[in-house]
Amino acid sequence: MPPGFDDTSVTVLKGIASRVAERLQHLGIETIQDLLFHLPTRYEDRTRLRPLGSLRAGNEAMVQGTIELTELRFGRRRMLLSRISDGTGFLTLRFFHFSAAQQRSLAKGSIVRCYGELRRRGNDIEMVHPEYRIIDPNAAQTIEQTLTPVYPTTEGLHQLSLRRFTKQAIGLLAQHPERLPELLDTPLCKKMNLPLLADSLQYIHRPPKKANTYHLQQGIHPMQRRLALEELLSHHLSIRRLRSRIKDSRSLQIKEAKKLTADFIRNLPFPLTAAQRRVIDEIFNDLGQKTAMQRLLQGDVGSGKTIIAALAALAAIRGGYQVALMAPTELLAEQHLQTLSQWLNPLGIHISLLTGKLPAAEKRHILAAMETGDCDLVIGTHALFQDDSCFARLGLIIVDEQHRFGVHQRLALREKGRHGKYVSHQLIMTATPIPRTLAMTAYADLETSIIDELPPGRQPVETAVMPESKRAEIINGVENACKQGRQVYWVCTLIEESEALQCQAAEVTAEILSETLDDLRISLIHGRMKATEKASVMDAFRSGKTDILVATTVIEVGVDVPNASLMIIENAERLGLAQLHQLRGRVGRGSTASACVLMYQGKLSVNGRARLAAMRDTSDGFEIARRDLKLRGPGELLGTRQTGLLQLRIADLSRDDDLLDQVPALAAEIEKLSPEQVPLLIRRWAGDVMGYGEV
Ligand code: ADP
Ligand code: MG
Repeated sequence: MPPGFDDTSVTVLKGIASRVAERLQHLGIETIQDLLFHLPTRYEDRTRLRPLGSLRAGNEAMVQGTIELTELRFGRRRMLLSRISDGTGFLTLRFFHFSAAQQRSLAKGSIVRCYGELRRRGNDIEMVHPEYRIIDPNAAQTIEQTLTPVYPTTEGLHQLSLRRFTKQAIGLLAQHPERLPELLDTPLCKKMNLPLLADSLQYIHRPPKKANTYHLQQGIHPMQRRLALEELLSHHLSIRRLRSRIKDSRSLQIKEAKKLTADFIRNLPFPLTAAQRRVIDEIFNDLGQKTAMQRLLQGDVGSGKTIIAALAALAAIRGGYQVALMAPTELLAEQHLQTLSQWLNPLGIHISLLTGKLPAAEKRHILAAMETGDCDLVIGTHALFQDDSCFARLGLIIVDEQHRFGVHQRLALREKGRHGKYVSHQLIMTATPIPRTLAMTAYADLETSIIDELPPGRQPVETAVMPESKRAEIINGVENACKQGRQVYWVCTLIEESEALQCQAAEVTAEILSETLDDLRISLIHGRMKATEKASVMDAFRSGKTDILVATTVIEVGVDVPNASLMIIENAERLGLAQLHQLRGRVGRGSTASACVLMYQGKLSVNGRARLAAMRDTSDGFEIARRDLKLRGPGELLGTRQTGLLQLRIADLSRDDDLLDQVPALAAEIEKLSPEQVPLLIRRWAGDVMGYGEV
């Protein structure tokens, strides 16, 4: 039997030699199946010629006409204009770059067929740099019979090549449908009238003329939804497998956690809130069970999750185990080291910090201490789940700011906590409300606890939205605040998608502020500084030795300096709501009233305005998440980080939310009626990374 398309390299297709294969790899395409799942982002309609008299600006169209006149114009730039007509109207073609040969070919009397976007210019409609072809009036003319797909592509790989490849791939699929087996064929699927996989792919890659292009562009066509459903279902199945596997293994039971921590709780500088007490009870209860805890702790920024982590860690350590705490940034890991050392060192607990940038000798030393069990609590970044780290008796794994990690990183760390049939407890913490899509896929293996209350005395952060032109006024405000003993974050966010540029912007801003405010103490922190430098800058700010901390988004998560009560965010219009909420959460952590200024450049888009208004109107993380989903258009950049969590190929977390209603029933039925399909589905969409392979 020939191999499945998931096992057939794209190099079997015509036109794919090693160079092209390499470029396809950049798009994640190695097999025929990958290519089939590489879907168009939009379509062009080249199935009919539009009469020139019917054209409207804003659309794309294919047209054909006779050239009436071609002339060079010398305005601010040299350009070539061609005017064409077809008896119903006229159209101007405008070229800024053109060769002499092109100029000759567009001679008066020639017939030209063009495809391009129609733009208004004065009373006229024109196409700038259309694709065009001179037509031989004596030859028979063909016209596309299907809509033309436009694929996401990469440098050096032309749309036309991708179209050629996908055309061959769907040809193969039509000949050998058994090489991409249909996996949704239970009675429920039939009842839902789901299109077949092969039909969906054929349709999406080459939709018929009459297809509903609006639905296709939005990604909500039944053919597309069928694929998204299969993908979501597969992730759900994979997490269910994982969950049942955990349920089957034994935990390192920690009994009487409450007793083990009573003295610590008594001596805390503040009483726990009711919500904190409730979640800690839930966690302690889990720790005593025979199956390992898999708990997600959700609590808005500033709700006090760190102390919960400390309590759980203390219980596990006094119960005789080691604990690993993973944070997404070095800065946060460093801060956790300080906070937890303050709380736990007096109790004789050994804490180490393990980050990627540690000198080799020090790293070896810490790895050795983890292995022998001399170290009770290890705080670290990604370095924690690297291959060479291993623990003597890891009883509890805590992941802070989980939304910054991928599912797979979390699961990799869980594997560290597996000792034969025993599994460590896991506590996952996040400030980001989990959309249902994720809850039912990436997090379906977790129980949830929620801290729905902030510590007493907090005042809402007053938020203002101001244009960049008011910078001088804002700087004045910052000066006044500092003179009253307040501390300020000045955040320089992404101007372009480049960390280097972001750091540079922060450097420049720090210099300018230092010149303007020369009697204030200003410091700078960004991602390109050494870990020790960052730590000492943070220390100085925390202990009140500096007034203003100019920062990049390195401070976005977790940073806790309660005395800082003013935050300025530059280019706020470019950030997503979730990110703004996290950033703003760095102030309003003490009892002084705090403020946040969202600065924007240029004119705000409608959506940008709505986003900033949402930030001004509310500081409730759940409300912000709700608005975020509403404002987020399909395919918009804001979602990418969250999507990164799951590596979805086709489904979209916000767009396809409603599909989830069908997922549990489908999953249950497939597990019951065709369990042999489950690993196939998982492998097709979720890959082997979930570790289900060992099941
Ligand atoms: P987050 O949930 O964002 O991680 P943190 O754990 O950093 O929040 O806590 C925010 C601040 O609130 C810290 O300075 C912490 O010491 C303080 N805090 C936590 N719990 C309480 C409480 N019950 N009462 C008063 N302050 C608290
Ligand atoms: Mg935190």
